[in-house]
Amino acid sequence: MQYRTMPNSDEKLSVLGYGCMRLPTLVGGAASNLINKEKALSQIRYAIDNGVNYLDTAYPYHLGASESFLGEYVLKDGYREKVKIATKLPCMMINNRESIETIFNKQLEKLQVDYIDYYLLHSMNGSSWEKMLSFGIIEFMDRVKKEGKVKKMGFSFHGKKEDFIKIADGYNFDFVQIQYNIVDIHFQAGIEGIEYAHKKGMGVIIMEPLRGGSLVSKMPKGVDKIYRNAPVKRTPADWALRFILNHPAVTLVLSGMNDDNHIKENIKICSDSFVNSLTEEEKDTIQSVRDKFNELQQVPCTGCAYCMPCPAGIDIPAAFKNLNNYHMFSKREGLLYHAAYLGIQTKDGKPHWTSTCTNCGLCERKCPQFIPVREKFKLVQRDLEKPVVKIIASAGRKVMNGKKRGNNG
Ligand code: SF4
Ligand code: SF4
Repeated sequence: MQYRTMPNSDEKLSVLGYGCMRLPTLVGGAASNLINKEKALSQIRYAIDNGVNYLDTAYPYHLGASESFLGEYVLKDGYREKVKIATKLPCMMINNRESIETIFNKQLEKLQVDYIDYYLLHSMNGSSWEKMLSFGIIEFMDRVKKEGKVKKMGFSFHGKKEDFIKIADGYNFDFVQIQYNIVDIHFQAGIEGIEYAHKKGMGVIIMEPLRGGSLVSKMPKGVDKIYRNAPVKRTPADWALRFILNHPAVTLVLSGMNDDNHIKENIKICSDSFVNSLTEEEKDTIQSVRDKFNELQQVPCTGCAYCMPCPAGIDIPAAFKNLNNYHMFSKREGLLYHAAYLGIQTKDGKPHWTSTCTNCGLCERKCPQFIPVREKFKLVQRDLEKPVVKIIASAGRKVMNGKKRGNNG
């Protein structure tokens, strides 16, 4: 493993951090609290045994189960001492001064620790920063650091560039967590935010390096060709992580891992992805990939599920994934998956097409990517919610109901 030093300290962090928001689950993925404990434990401990020393979690991850899982299982048997724990104050849930203290104490309890190494204000933007200031967040941050309950203070950011600067200048933060990847280089804080934070002497932690897996799982038409013709042969994950770690301001990159092979591959890639190691030709390859992705992708959804649950029962991340699949990979697959996920395999067994959206706007207020969900639903309806898809879904439901009756009787 390669290590980089946190600015203004002698702390060495592995350049690969373990994101604990997409742990393996028994059912339901990131939006589920049913963590597959045996598998997740063995995966995280494997990563630690192979040099990873930074675990990133947050109060709402896996509906609250991520922090408890780390405390009850992962950090036992001497593993607490081997890693730095990062977790986040859920600013979106804070409605008064008292709840900051209550939630922070709850987090110490869930993680079963006396202190948190890296503590972040979660998912900040201009208005949440103003709100937190009004609840006395500066006094709280000063105090928990003085008491030794937090070693380093930072914030994760999903907002406009100018607000990033305002927050970065608003407190003596030790580090920031920013979204950055092959495609999203100017998005939100972007490269400008990375460089600004670095100049201020802050550590820079990168999130969403693979955009929820969409930059590496299956290559869209055209992108695979660019990679095939590249001067060196690498997997998409290799290109994506190497691109981030090439930047001298980056301290580490987080990856939300739940597949044994991906963990092994990421550890290997991060061991030799050094600063300024990409050639101009390699950078050109990455630029071509970026252009192709931007041309094909309809919605920049990362599948994080922060927008869920939807009161109308719509599986918003699935709808956008199907739409992107339709345009980037296979029309047939996009349509069939849409019939399956929104028309057949729903929680109550009834179809929840995007056309049933009640326009409440809840999802848009929670989306860290600022996706105009309702506007983008028009594309889903145009391309995916065709009569034939509804006929397929209706037939599928009949089969499913028949099976259920058969099983019951
Ligand atoms: S605006 Fe529509 S999709 Fe969004 S939460 Fe409300 S009902 Fe669901
Ligand atoms: S719409 Fe936004 S909040 Fe919902 S899954 Fe996509 S990126 Fe996440």
